[in-house]
Amino acid sequence: MRYGGNTSCVEVRCGERLLVFDGGTGIRALGKELEASGKTTDLDLFFSHTHLDHVVGMPFFQPSYAAGNRLRFWAGHLKPPHGIKAVLDKMMSAPLFPVPIDIFAAKPEFRDFTAGETLEPQPGVVIKTAPLNHPNGATGYRVEFAGKSVTYLTDIEHRPGKTDAAVLGLMDRADIAIYDCTYDDTEYAAHRGWGHSTWQEGVRLATRARVKQFVIFHHDPDHNDDFMDKIAAAAEKLRPGTVVAKEGMVLRP
Ligand SMILES: [Zn+2]
Ligand SMILES: [Zn+2]
Repeated sequence: MRYGGNTSCVEVRCGERLLVFDGGTGIRALGKELEASGKTTDLDLFFSHTHLDHVVGMPFFQPSYAAGNRLRFWAGHLKPPHGIKAVLDKMMSAPLFPVPIDIFAAKPEFRDFTAGETLEPQPGVVIKTAPLNHPNGATGYRVEFAGKSVTYLTDIEHRPGKTDAAVLGLMDRADIAIYDCTYDDTEYAAHRGWGHSTWQEGVRLATRARVKQFVIFHHDPDHNDDFMDKIAAAAEKLRPGTVVAKEGMVLRP
């Protein structure tokens, strides 16, 4: 209740430019906020991957239904003809959902790329990407803008005792690093192969990469507020300044 029950959706502002990472249930609230502003929405939305918890908010994202908005949806783990449009189209099919994706009056653009590429979705915004160790694949992101950097790394499973050079590269001296901390180290053994990491592994990586602020993200839905409070306290001890992501939290690099 206090940390929030929505699934992944992170908004990144680069000056006037708007980037969104993932379309989990959290994107519904973002859509309402954008529509309430009365302005035309112009954004780039990057999917880490297309497991349900990262896309299920898409049919409820208001800006998609308003003509005139400019939306570009990106994914790096798929290949046409089964690219991001086809996958979202499949989710928005009867009897799973009553209206098809073509109902989106904003006519979003769908852009498939290959994880590992560097993107420049808008002038001055550079996004480095890398493939992540996750069932069916996922893409990790590092946004660089005006001398600041933010990384978004979920869903990813670490290999115990080994450091993923690509992940470390994306995290390198980032101002803010958001990382998959689904489990506690003690829970990990029972979840090997599930595609997620631990907050302790995240802290180890952040320290090695000399990250400024580390963000514990992608909470296990079985962890309640009290459990999250304990993680927050333990993480603060291990690496002061570490924060546990909360619904609506705003961080400034
Ligand atoms: Zn996943
Ligand atoms: Zn996930």
